[in-house]
Amino acid sequence: MYLRLERLDKRFDGTDAVRGLSLDVERGEMLSLLGPSGCGKTTTLRMVGGFLRPDGGLIVLDGEDITGLPPERRPTATVFQSYALFPHMTVLRNVIYGLKFRKVPREEALAAGRAMLEKVGLPGAGGKTIDQLSGGEQQRVALARALIVRPKVLLLDEPLSNLDAKLRVRMRGEIRRLQREFGITALYVTHDQEEALALSDRVAVMERGRIIQTGTPREVYGAAANSFVADFIGRSNILTLEDGSTVAVHPEDIRLSSGGEGMEGVVSDHQFKGAVITWFVEAGGRTVEADVPGRSGDAWRTGERVRISFERESATLLRE
Ligand code: ATP
Repeated sequence: MYLRLERLDKRFDGTDAVRGLSLDVERGEMLSLLGPSGCGKTTTLRMVGGFLRPDGGLIVLDGEDITGLPPERRPTATVFQSYALFPHMTVLRNVIYGLKFRKVPREEALAAGRAMLEKVGLPGAGGKTIDQLSGGEQQRVALARALIVRPKVLLLDEPLSNLDAKLRVRMRGEIRRLQREFGITALYVTHDQEEALALSDRVAVMERGRIIQTGTPREVYGAAANSFVADFIGRSNILTLEDGSTVAVHPEDIRLSSGGEGMEGVVSDHQFKGAVITWFVEAGGRTVEADVPGRSGDAWRTGERVRISFERESATLLRE
C-alpha cells in the first residue's frame, strides 16, 4: 500500500479528535475524507502533512515511516482552504517557492513554473500579483505551487470552500483532471458529499474521529453501512417497513401515486428546484422526500393523500 495510516490518535485537551483511524490509499488514487464539521477530517490531514503530531499510530508513505518528520521534510504538499499564497510576491514566484528549498537552479525553476502555470490554465499570468487574481485563479496558483514539487501525496483541505457554487463545480473537475494527468496520490478533505462523490476514486466517511465506511462513490451512495452514512451521503429516507426492518431509500427512488400499493401519506409541501421537484410527504410520523423530474409539473396539492412505494433493489437494509 502506498500511503498507510495506522491507528492514528489525536486528542486536544483530553478530547478525542481522531480515534484509532486506519486507512490505506493506493498509488495514484484520489481519496476523500468526508464528514460533518468537527469529525476530525482536517486533524487527520494535518497529521499526514506533518503539521500536527499524532498521539499514537503510524503514517507510512511509500515504505517510509514519516510519522515523526517535520512538514518540510515530508514528500507531501498541502493546498489550504485559504490558499496561503504570498500576496507580496508575483504569481510565478509563488509557484516556484517550494523549489528554492530543493536547490533547483533558478532558470530551471522559472521555466518549470511557467510550464506549470500553463498546465493549470494560467499561461502568461506569472508577472501578476496575487491580489490581481480572482478566487478561482488563486486556487489554480495554489495547486501549481503544490504540484511543482512533485509530492508523493497531495493534500487538499476544503480547497473549494471560498468559491461560489458554479466555480466550485468547475474547479473540482479541474482538480480531478490535474490529479489524473499527474497520476498523483491525493487526500481530499470536504464536508460536501456531492463534491466527494464527484471527484474521488474512493470516499472515507467519518464520524466523531473514526472512519465509518470506505468505498467507491457508488458503493457508499448505493449501500450505506448505517443510518449515519445513509443520511449524510445524499439525502435518504429512513423507513420502517411492515416486517419491522429499517431501510434507507434515496429520494429519487421514491415513487408517489394517487392510489394502488404502498405506504399511505399526506403531501405537506413541495419545492421546485429546476431539474427536480421535491415532494414532502408525512407518513408514519416521518417526512418522506421524493424527487421527481421538474418537467413533470405540479402533480399534487398540499393535503392530498398519496401512496409511497419503491423498488426493493433500490433500498439499503439498515436493520432487520
Ligand atoms: P471542519 O469541517 O469544521 O473543519 P473537521 O472534520 O475538519 O471539521 P477537525 O478540524 O479535525 O474537524 O476537528 C476535530 C475536533 O478537534 C473538533 O472537535 C475540533 O474542535 C477539535 N480541534 C481541532 N483542532 C484543534 C486544536 N488545535 N485545539 C483544540 N481542539 C481542536
